[in-house]
This record gives sequence, C-alpha cells and structure tokens, in this order.
Amino acid sequence: MPARRLDGTAWAERLRRELEPRVAAITRHAGRPPGLAVVLAGTHPPSEIYVRNKIATATAHGCHAVLHRLPDTATVDEALALVRQLNADDSVDGILVQSPLPAAMGADAESRVFDAVDPARDVDGFHPVNVGRLVQKRPALVACTPLGCATLLDREDIPLRGRHAVVIGRSDIVGKPMAMLLLHRDATVTICHSRTVDLPAICRTADVLVAAIGRPGFVTPDFIKPGATVIDVGINRDEAGKLCGDVDFAPVREALGPEGWISPVPGGVGPMTITMLLSNTVDAAERTEQRT
Ligand code: NDP
Repeated sequence: MPARRLDGTAWAERLRRELEPRVAAITRHAGRPPGLAVVLAGTHPPSEIYVRNKIATATAHGCHAVLHRLPDTATVDEALALVRQLNADDSVDGILVQSPLPAAMGADAESRVFDAVDPARDVDGFHPVNVGRLVQKRPALVACTPLGCATLLDREDIPLRGRHAVVIGRSDIVGKPMAMLLLHRDATVTICHSRTVDLPAICRTADVLVAAIGRPGFVTPDFIKPGATVIDVGINRDEAGKLCGDVDFAPVREALGPEGWISPVPGGVGPMTITMLLSNTVDAAERTEQRT
C-alpha cells in the first residue's frame, strides 16, 4: 500500500476560509482591507505568473493587492525609493519584492532591497530582523514556503517532538528557516546540502524528510525509511516539460508504505506557500491595527 497524500490544496482552501473572518474584522475596524504591495522589477515570465497568482489570491480573499512595476532598466536606487515610499504608506500592511531582480541591478541588489522593507511589513519573511526573531522563537513574519510546510505538518498532526527531521537544502528562503521551524517543534534536525557525505544514509534515518533542492526526482526509494513523512518543496520541469518536485513520487510513495505521508507536486507545498502569504499579510495588518 502506498503512503497517504498530504493534500496541500485542500488544507490551503480550508486555511483561506479560516482567514476570511479576520480579513473582515480588519476591514471593519480599520475602515480599509488589508493592503499588499507587490514589487515586480523587469520582465521575467515565471515571476509574472507567480505575481499574478499572489495578487489574485489576495484579492479573492478581500485584500487590496497592488502591483508596482519597475522597468528592466530600473536601478537599485529606484527600487529602494519605491520600497521606502511603500514603507511610509499607511494603506500598505505587507510588501513583497519579487525575486529575482534584474541582473543589471548588481549582485547585491536583492539583499539591499529586501533589507529596506519595513520588517513589520515584510510578508516574505526575508528581512534579517524577521530571520533573527525566528531563530530566537519570537513572533515574526516567517518565509512563506517553510511556514506552509510546517503548517501542513501541524494540521495533519504529524508527530515531530523527538523525531529526526532531515532537511535537504540550506537556502535562506527555504532550508534554513524550515530547519528552525522543525527545531521549534522539538524535532532533532539535520540540515544537508551538496557537500553532505552519504546523503541517502542520513535520509534513511529521517522520520520527516524535507526536500528543497531544485533537482527533479532527486529523492529516490533508497533515501526512505518506511513510515516516514516526505515533504517535497521542489518545483521543477522534467524532460517532457511537466511540473515535478524533487522527489521521485510514485516509487517513493510505495517505499514509504501505508504508515507514511508524502506531499505531491503540484498540489502540496505550492498552494500552502501562497496561502501563507495571505496569512502573513493578515498577521501584519492585525499588528498594524494593534499599534494604532
Ligand atoms: P537553492 O538553489 O537556493 O538551494 C538548493 C539547495 O539544495 C542548496 O542548499 C544546495 O546545496 C542543495 N543541493 C543542491 N544539489 C544538491 C545535492 N546534489 N545534494 C544535496 N543537496 C543539494 O534553492 P531554493 O531553496 O530556493 O529552492 C529549492 C527548491 O524549492 C527549488 O526547486 C525551488 O523551485 C523550490 N521552491 C518552491 C517553492 C514553493 O512555493 N513550493 C518556493 C521556493 C522554492 P549547497 O548549499 O551546498 O549549494
């Protein structure tokens, strides 16, 4: 018997419904809906799709989401000026700067522009203040993808306390915050990366395995302990151009067996990520309201 599916689409819908009364309360009390500003610099077809989905989701759930475009030729100073203007706008609760910024802005553009976002409005959770607060287990806006994975585990009641969680990937936006969220749920956490020796052997000791690598079908049955939970963060295209994750889904699902869990791609982490953006926007708006 194959493992059970962690249904991100169904959980995301349920979570969005749960957010609706909070959106309505903010709108009633503040006299305006939660505001999300999305900055898109340059032309990057995948970013166009991501941004469109983010704006559509926020709008469909009662937020006022506005896209701010900058041309391909925009400079870092222009991006910084826009972010500062949004920081000072009382109708904006959440600010998101879509990555990647145009290469012409320079190698350090993303860190400079992300660091300029007001931490209280940083709905992507990338600002060093929010990262530091997450590490210290203080209230923070947390990066949407790892937050979505942790929420999926929480909602499905997957045991984490005292369990071994292995995260493959150590990026600032997925791997590291994911490890922190698992640690804060009392898991014993191992972070693996491209220099890890004998990765499959480490993964075979995982009760919870999170794959955030960016390589189609990288996680195969020899990485798997039967009965474990596998979260597939990857978004890749296979040789035929079909969307796929980092996990070789069908054989891994079989290897996990009926006691195991696995998140599919699509329909797993993706819908949870976008829902966490909505959730962070609502959190940010509620905190703004509490301060005023
Ligand atoms: P990065 O490229 O920033 O990080 C990839 C990580 O995987 C690195 O830490 C790298 O190690 C590690 N890695 C690469 N090759 C290997 C290997 N052979 N063995 C072990 N580790 C390896 O990617 P992101 O963290 O940004 O994203 C990861 C995946 O998640 C991508 O497919 C991305 O598209 C997807 N993603 C999905 C989201 C969603 O909403 N579902 C949101 C964000 C990302 P090292 O550090 O040593 O180089």
